[in-house]
Amino acid sequence: PLYQQATYLKSAPDLSHCPEDFGYEVAFAGRSNAGKSSALNVITSQRGLAKTSKTPGRTQLINFFECDEQRKLVDLPGYGYAKVNVNTKRAWERSLSEYIEVRASLKGLVMMVDSRMPPTEIDLMMLDWTLTLNLPVHILLTKSDKLKKGPAQNSLLKMRQLLSEKYPHATVQLFSSLKRQGLDEVWAKLDEWMEY
Ligand code: GDP
Repeated sequence: PLYQQATYLKSAPDLSHCPEDFGYEVAFAGRSNAGKSSALNVITSQRGLAKTSKTPGRTQLINFFECDEQRKLVDLPGYGYAKVNVNTKRAWERSLSEYIEVRASLKGLVMMVDSRMPPTEIDLMMLDWTLTLNLPVHILLTKSDKLKKGPAQNSLLKMRQLLSEKYPHATVQLFSSLKRQGLDEVWAKLDEWMEY
């Protein structure tokens, strides 16, 4: 599919440096280490695509990848670094909330949550934000290969329950970059949002 043609476009420290706001964008967010880079690489079938976001200077940048003239994938800075100071955290929140609130081409947010752990406080904050903004969210319960079938289903059902109670704008699936599990489902969601 289209996503295999994604190429690196640019990195932006904040909204004012983002590429022109047109067409369709889907952004990827998640607590650092939740498996965002791995997911992006598997979704685009490109081993090194999201590696750039891991080099230290780039971690706080919004990285844009172009699929075609109208469509982009966006790698948002990972959140929840224990080590960053309060000012860095605030700057991150500001540039991220600004991007999510203002960006007209943003059609949906893919959120990585480790399938073995409950959603973090920031995950829930993101869900609250996006609910207020009416921005659709698709949650990938990542690293699902690390769970046996029963616990994996359990984790999926628990999240589904939370979404049906509080976050009707969000959907959820199991995902494993390692086993390439759940790829068709996430591709279908991207197609839907990108009107492809
Ligand atoms: P990021 O910080 O969110 O970009 O996370 P990474 O994609 O760099 O992954 C963090 C760690 O989790 C790395 O050690 C990966 O090898 C591991 N990881 C990521 N996805 C999977 C997966 O699907 N299965 C397993 N078993 N490990 C994974």
